[in-house]
Amino acid sequence: MSGIRPTGFLHLGNYFGAVRNYVRMQDEFDCFFMVADLHSLTTHPDTRELKINVQRVLAENIASGLDPEKVALYCQSHIRETSELYLYLNMLAYQGELEKTVTFKDKVRQQPDNVNAGLLTYPVLQTADIILHRAELVPVGKDQEQHLEMARTFANRFNHRYGEVFPEPKAFNFGDELIKVPSLDGAGKMSKSENQLATLYLSDDDEMIRKKVMKAKTDSGPSEPNSKKPDYIENIFLLMKLVSKPETIRHYEMAFNDCTVRYGDLKKQLAEDMVAFITPIRQRAETIRQDQKYLKEVMEKGAEKARRSAKETMDKVREAMRLNYY
Ligand code: ADP
Repeated sequence: MSGIRPTGFLHLGNYFGAVRNYVRMQDEFDCFFMVADLHSLTTHPDTRELKINVQRVLAENIASGLDPEKVALYCQSHIRETSELYLYLNMLAYQGELEKTVTFKDKVRQQPDNVNAGLLTYPVLQTADIILHRAELVPVGKDQEQHLEMARTFANRFNHRYGEVFPEPKAFNFGDELIKVPSLDGAGKMSKSENQLATLYLSDDDEMIRKKVMKAKTDSGPSEPNSKKPDYIENIFLLMKLVSKPETIRHYEMAFNDCTVRYGDLKKQLAEDMVAFITPIRQRAETIRQDQKYLKEVMEKGAEKARRSAKETMDKVREAMRLNYY
């Protein structure tokens, strides 16, 4: 089970941290993937663009290879049971632990005029989303590690207080480690709404991709063989590892190590490999986005599957909590 907020265009971080894993999981597991529209209200209270953004996230997921026939692909707000479970879990979550969450502290800094209760209890809602399907594996990027730890805490707390209903959810990646895709300016991670010129979006056209990659920070190159790469150069190599061929990566690694690397060439190569990677996804997503009827059907079918699973869990929850009076 996993979700992505409809707060803007999907980017490479969303793709490699989350969506690529969704696609790989779909043949092996019983999967639930959602557009987290309720979560987006904590930071984006204006809902005028929401419908377009929800459709965009759906289309970009499908264009990346997610098959709505195989998984439950749905919209968070269509599953009312989530809100009920969120309420119960809120009684088991303490102010102190929520205030310590790194993402909460970040958001308080970013939006001091809108420190709403939803922002504080964001990890609680996320826990509700996950354990509503009694999910065990949660494909996410590295930035979500702390939230997953909190999800385990809340699920365990429920189990101790009311009886065993939930398995422990774990962050999951098909590689060895959770991924963090760095932004092109070397400062932090790629993100939907921040540092847009340093983030590569799945909707960027070829010229935009080239422009952004060529602007990535470099320097005059190493002066001694086998030097340690500065962070911003390490980041460029990391991006290359995501989209370029092994022999290309080897070539530039060797060039770096023997001090012959030309960063202009390296970035040109990376830009072309990015274009080759992103263009087909962008084109498919554009076609899917035009088909409103299809997207509506996807959402309806997804919600139906998710509701079935949610109802089963909530029957168990109410029974465990002795809320079934008759
Ligand atoms: P954003 O931070 O861009 O708004 P979300 O919070 O909606 O994205 O996260 C959706 C998924 O994408 C999560 O699983 C998150 O871990 C993953 N993700 C977001 N940014 C990155 C990144 N730069 N690198 C790896 N994974 C990321």
